[in-house]
Amino acid sequence: MNYFHYIENELWCEEVPVERIVEAVGTPLYLYSYQTITRHFQVFDAAFAGVPHLICFSAKANSNIAILKTVVAAGGGVDIVSGGELFRALRAGADPKKIVYAGVGKTEQEITSALDAGILMFNIESSQELQVINSVAGRLGTRAPISLRINPDVDPLTHPHISTGLKQNKFGINIEKSRDEYRRAKELDHIDIVGVDCHIGSQITELGPFIDALTRLKDLIARLREDGIEVRYLDLGGGLGISYNEETPPHPDEYARAIIERAKDLDCTFIFEPGRVIVGNAGVLVSRVLYVKTNADKNFVIVDAGMNDLIRPSLYGSYHGIVPVREKGKGILTADVVGPICESGDFLAKAREITEVGRGDLIAVKSAGAYGFSMSSNYNSRPRAAEVLVRKDRFEIIRERETYDDLVRGERITDFVEGLK
Ligand SMILES: *Cc1c(COP(=O)(O)O)cnc(C)c1O
Repeated sequence: MNYFHYIENELWCEEVPVERIVEAVGTPLYLYSYQTITRHFQVFDAAFAGVPHLICFSAKANSNIAILKTVVAAGGGVDIVSGGELFRALRAGADPKKIVYAGVGKTEQEITSALDAGILMFNIESSQELQVINSVAGRLGTRAPISLRINPDVDPLTHPHISTGLKQNKFGINIEKSRDEYRRAKELDHIDIVGVDCHIGSQITELGPFIDALTRLKDLIARLREDGIEVRYLDLGGGLGISYNEETPPHPDEYARAIIERAKDLDCTFIFEPGRVIVGNAGVLVSRVLYVKTNADKNFVIVDAGMNDLIRPSLYGSYHGIVPVREKGKGILTADVVGPICESGDFLAKAREITEVGRGDLIAVKSAGAYGFSMSSNYNSRPRAAEVLVRKDRFEIIRERETYDDLVRGERITDFVEGLK
């Protein structure tokens, strides 16, 4: 359920026509619906109302501080994977006691910042990381609250690049070694074991993989308790999929029911780290058609947003719906919708049937709220798009469109590149 809809053939976001926002802000433009984000958060939160739980929104899905603040204001915490995301979460006013920190490559500096902030827990991804966190905490005269991120070796049945819980993936600690690793952690002076964590992948559209992971983690928790290790938190990560095209992922209620019925007696506070399911369908990328052309009987619709703005189609072959901002009742066109970037991999859709569009028309690329702007780049020296948040009849720019000066910020021409002398 989202708040993008047509009124008299015109696309609106909540109570504002998209065209009006484009007139004020230009294209390309990321447009998010506040009510959609809060609704998605509340539905997810309500699904777990029967058990103690904490929902930490995954910042990497959409890290704009206004979006983080929206989730924080709804009662959420934040799941971070870098010092930069910690900075953003704190800037957005997140309660440090609701921040969980994953990632295979945490630096000592990042660990120090997270300990200083007093986060809820580190989700540790290797033995070496455990040792480093122990010694950094020791230097700071404190103790680090930790879970081990378990790699449960389950196949999430999703795109290989977003599968993270198979034993050949770089993430987490192999479940077979985890009991020993916990025993070692228990001996460390500056480590407080607080939980068990996993995150098996993203855009998961079936319950089976989640249930398999949960079953293995429950078993591990039982063994840890035999070893006298207290487990207060069970963090099941994120990964619940959304409908981009014809996928039918489980509703958060079904997902919650499957987990609660299997784990309600575990005496743990559940943590979830949803990203995509909260913001994915709460955002669109609005772009203007620059040219339409035909090469070798193939139609190309060239728009002013490219792979630097939305890389998912190029990176994963992902499907994003493409709709006209104003429906003119024209015919259907089969075309590749491509950007201005000098790469054949720069496309938003391939061989797609879309409503016929012409130069100057506006299109909306749907389901672009997650892993859209947050994965964007300046490739081809393209300033990054503006981001706008709509709430009811109001809209605000939450990130200015970048300028050419932004592009060269921090760059300098040194003496030795001047001339050939
Ligand atoms: C990316 C990520 C998430 C969020 O995944 P979604 O599929 O967007 O829900 C959660 N936890 C961790 C550790 C992640 O890396």
